[in-house]
Amino acid sequence: MPTYRAPVRDTLFVLRDVLGYGRYDNLPGFADASPDVLEAILAEGARLAENVMQPLNRAGDTEGCTRHEDGSVSTPKGFGEAYRHYCEGGWMGLSAPVEYGGQGLPYLVHSAVGEYLSSANMALMMYPGLTQGAIAAILTHGTDAQKNRFLPKMIEGAWTGTMNLTEPHCGTDLGLLRTRAVPNGDGSYKISGQKIFISAGEHDLSENIVHLVLARIEGAPEGTKGISLFIVPKLKLDEDGNPAGPNGVSCGALEEKMGIHGNATCVMNYDAAEGTLLGTENGGLKAMFTMMNEARLGVGMQGLAIAEAAYQNAADYARERLQGRALTGVKAPGEKADPIIVHPDIRRMLMTMRAFNEAGRALLLWTALQSDIAHRSEDEAERAQAEDHLALMTPVIKGVLTDKGFENAVMAQQVFGGHGYIEEHGMSQFVRDARITQIYEGANGIQALDLVGRKLPQDGGRAVQTFFATVGEFCETHRADEKMAPYTKALKKGLNDLQSATLWLMQNAMQKPDNAGAASYDYMHLLGLVALGYMWGRTVKTAQDRLAEGGEDTSFLEEKLVLGRFFMERVMPETGAHLARIASGAETVMALPAEAF
Ligand SMILES: Cc1cc2nc3c(=O)[nH]c(=O)nc-3n(C[C@H](O)[C@H](O)[C@H](O)COP(=O)(O)OP(=O)(O)OC[C@H]3O[C@@H](n4cnc5c(N)ncnc54)[C@H](O)[C@@H]3O)c2cc1C
Repeated sequence: MPTYRAPVRDTLFVLRDVLGYGRYDNLPGFADASPDVLEAILAEGARLAENVMQPLNRAGDTEGCTRHEDGSVSTPKGFGEAYRHYCEGGWMGLSAPVEYGGQGLPYLVHSAVGEYLSSANMALMMYPGLTQGAIAAILTHGTDAQKNRFLPKMIEGAWTGTMNLTEPHCGTDLGLLRTRAVPNGDGSYKISGQKIFISAGEHDLSENIVHLVLARIEGAPEGTKGISLFIVPKLKLDEDGNPAGPNGVSCGALEEKMGIHGNATCVMNYDAAEGTLLGTENGGLKAMFTMMNEARLGVGMQGLAIAEAAYQNAADYARERLQGRALTGVKAPGEKADPIIVHPDIRRMLMTMRAFNEAGRALLLWTALQSDIAHRSEDEAERAQAEDHLALMTPVIKGVLTDKGFENAVMAQQVFGGHGYIEEHGMSQFVRDARITQIYEGANGIQALDLVGRKLPQDGGRAVQTFFATVGEFCETHRADEKMAPYTKALKKGLNDLQSATLWLMQNAMQKPDNAGAASYDYMHLLGLVALGYMWGRTVKTAQDRLAEGGEDTSFLEEKLVLGRFFMERVMPETGAHLARIASGAETVMALPAEAF
């Protein structure tokens, strides 16, 4: 059976020492989560993940969800109780506004705990995850009446949320969307159409489900310009906001799928279902993007979460499994073979996974902090800079953390040999669950296009220039420091590759858009590597300072130096290969005619 231990000490190190959490107590909500309170929240979140969520993960995978003849859907045994536990603990509204029943704490804290819970049980955590995205969309775009009607119940967890974009003929290209909205004349609409692949579309965890549905109002323009967003509750509400009977929404089927079996992926049929407009007419995509941007960071977090859980199990197994002898001589003389952790190839895999996980966590938390600054700071310039960071890093976090998360789940499976391929140890589930993170919330190829086509040129490239300056200054500041030199040298080389790639795009993509398309995936990973490398630079510098001060946890800090060095020597050089591929252009990629494939 797989096990999981929430990495609380690592999270605290990132938050307090690397990111300097204490410096932000001027932001609303941060003073309520003082460093001591923060530690208590993480410890409580860790207990919830380890003791309540994780024990249900395997059973959720094997049992899956069941659709009954009446269209209702049951979640796996134990999910209902665990979900209630989660809601009663106030986790749903941890960072939601106090006026609607939330706790108003930093999004940063929500993200830190979110990693633990998704490591423990990703399929179960998707039910609240989608609800939190829907809460964000209603908060930003809802009228006061809509906020008062829906938010308290959703923040309490009594009602959950969904996002309904996808239709059978319309996935990435939302302009093809066919679901129709007909005005009733009283401000409400009748929504009709079919949505597919809707996560948490129907289930037995909550008394009502608040569907956010993209549809086209009769007579609206074709394409993405004519799409609006609607709130369509599963049960209609009476004047007092209480559920008052069924709406025209039903689950037509559950999808059979590769992983996340504990999460109900539904075909949803809307048959003149009553809904209200969220945001403006034809402004649906903008409103949905509030939900999707938050969800994309959440999906990046899922990639990291699975990678961490898979790594922990691989490390435990590598210490126990006895096969072969160490190249440098017998290490376990009392045994017939040494544990496989003595073999350099096993170490390569464990180090690769861990060096990614720790930097990925730092990158995610740094970005979550920027989200708090963007939403809570009173300083306009500070807010604008944080918004730039969020816009630039959201596709990188979604694309890179999920690609690497999946690769690492496979690597952890490899450490188990054939025992990773069979179901007994749970490694197969990690691989199957991680796979969807690369696809939903916009497939990773689309994240790369969003980065290169939209986020890079935005405001004359301001966000990426700020990122270059931040990393460049870090390298420059510590260049003369002998202890930092091995780290800053590799990071600077990565930054140079990234700047060259950016210049190449500026010079070669305008006239030939295929050059941008063919370069985008490598560019996303190149930027991701530099961002992860920068996180290692800051982590190592912090660890060195703490060691110089005579910090107590010497071995913990020294491990960071080794892991950072491994990343710089073994992972960072990949930037060169990305640059070479980018600079080769689109020619060979596009040379063959479609019939040749
Ligand atoms: C388990 C699961 C849960 C899901 N949950 C939800 C949900 O809750 N709500 C919801 O609305 N949807 C949900 N989805 C749908 C998911 O978001 C889509 O599957 C995804 O966005 C891709 O759309 P598609 O499957 O139609 O692929 P397509 O759009 O057909 O894309 C196929 C391939 O072509 C590529 N591609 C497409 N267009 C371009 C382009 N212009 N340039 C370059 N490459 C391109 C894509 O990257 C992809 O690799 C879920 C899907 C699954 C499997």
